[in-house]
Amino acid sequence: MQAFQLVAPQQPPELREVPVPEPGPGQLLVKVGGAGACHSDLHLMEAPTERLGRVPFTLGHENAGWVEKLGPGATGFAPGDPVLVYGPWGCGTCANCRLGMENYCEATGGLGGGLAGNDGGMAPYLLVPATRFLIPLGSLDPRAAAPLSDAALTSYHAVKRSLHLLGPGSTAVVIGAGGLGQMAIQILRALSSSTTVVAVDTAADKLATAARMGADETLLSGDEAVTRIKDITRGQGAQLVLDMVGVDPTLRMAAQVARVRGHLTIVGLGGGAVPVNFASPPHECSVASPYWGFIGELMEVVSLAQAGKIQMLVEYFPLERAGEAYRLLHEGKISGRAVITPNG
Ligand SMILES: [Zn+2]
Ligand SMILES: [Zn+2]
Repeated sequence: MQAFQLVAPQQPPELREVPVPEPGPGQLLVKVGGAGACHSDLHLMEAPTERLGRVPFTLGHENAGWVEKLGPGATGFAPGDPVLVYGPWGCGTCANCRLGMENYCEATGGLGGGLAGNDGGMAPYLLVPATRFLIPLGSLDPRAAAPLSDAALTSYHAVKRSLHLLGPGSTAVVIGAGGLGQMAIQILRALSSSTTVVAVDTAADKLATAARMGADETLLSGDEAVTRIKDITRGQGAQLVLDMVGVDPTLRMAAQVARVRGHLTIVGLGGGAVPVNFASPPHECSVASPYWGFIGELMEVVSLAQAGKIQMLVEYFPLERAGEAYRLLHEGKISGRAVITPNG
C-alpha cells in the first residue's frame, strides 16, 4: 500500500510503498476512513532528529475507520465496525494509564501512531496495538469523525478541566477561532449554557464562523478587545482564557484578560511564553498547558457528536494530495480541518 511518510528530519514527507501490516496478538487492523492533518505535524516536519524517533514512519495521529481484521485474542469488535482511534498510546499499566489518562503515560509520554516513529493513519490501513484504543462510532461517518480524536478531544479536555469555574455569570475567552477554537466554542456552548463565550481572532471571517458556532461576542485582536472583555466582566477578567494560538502576543493578551483565581490555558503550539510574576497573570490564576485528553473524555466527545452538538468543518483530500493539504494548512488556508481519505 501507499503511505504518506516522514522519511528524514526536516525533509518534506513522501508517498512510499509499504507492506500492509498484519495484526499480532491483541492487535487490530483498521481500514482508514479519515486521517486528520494536524498543525503539530508541521512542527514534526521541522523537528530535529532527536525529537523525531525512528524514521521513516507514516503520519496521521487523528484517525477513524472500520475494523478490518482482528489479531489472535483480540475481542470486542467485529470486521466492519466503524471506530474512532484514541491517539495517545500508553503502556496501559502505569498509574495514569489505569485512570484512562494515556496522554500522560509515565512510560511512553502519550505518543501514538503518526508520532515519534509509530506508523499513523495516512495509509489505507493502520495497525492499532490494543482494542482499548478503539471507540465505537455508531452512526457517525469515520471520514467526518476523524477530527474528534484530536481537534475535538484536545479542546474538550482543555474546557472540561475548568468546567467548575464556568457557572452562571462567568466568561470564557477563546483566543484563535481556527479549527480548534471553533471546536472549543461549541464545547463551551454544549457543556456550560450559562457562560458568556467570547471569541478573539485577527481574521473577520473566522469570527463570523465563531459566531455561527455559538460565540456570544466576537472581537478582533487588539487593545479594544481587552477593554471590551474587561467591560463584560465588570473589570474582573474571564474565569477561563483558552489560548489556541500560543504566541507571545496572544499569551500577553491572555494574561491581561484572565481574572484572579482564573485559568489561563495554553493549547496552541505557537511556542510563545507568558511571564509569570507577582503582578501578572492575576493572583492565583493558574497557567496550564494540557496535552490531548483522556479515553473517557473521548467517549463523551463521541456522545456530543452523535447528539449533533459539535461538528468540525472538514475538507477532504485523497492520499495523493496529502502534501498539498499540509501546504494549505501551513499557509493558513484550511478553515476547519483537512482530512486525508486514503480509501476514497
Ligand atoms: Zn494533533
Ligand atoms: Zn502508561
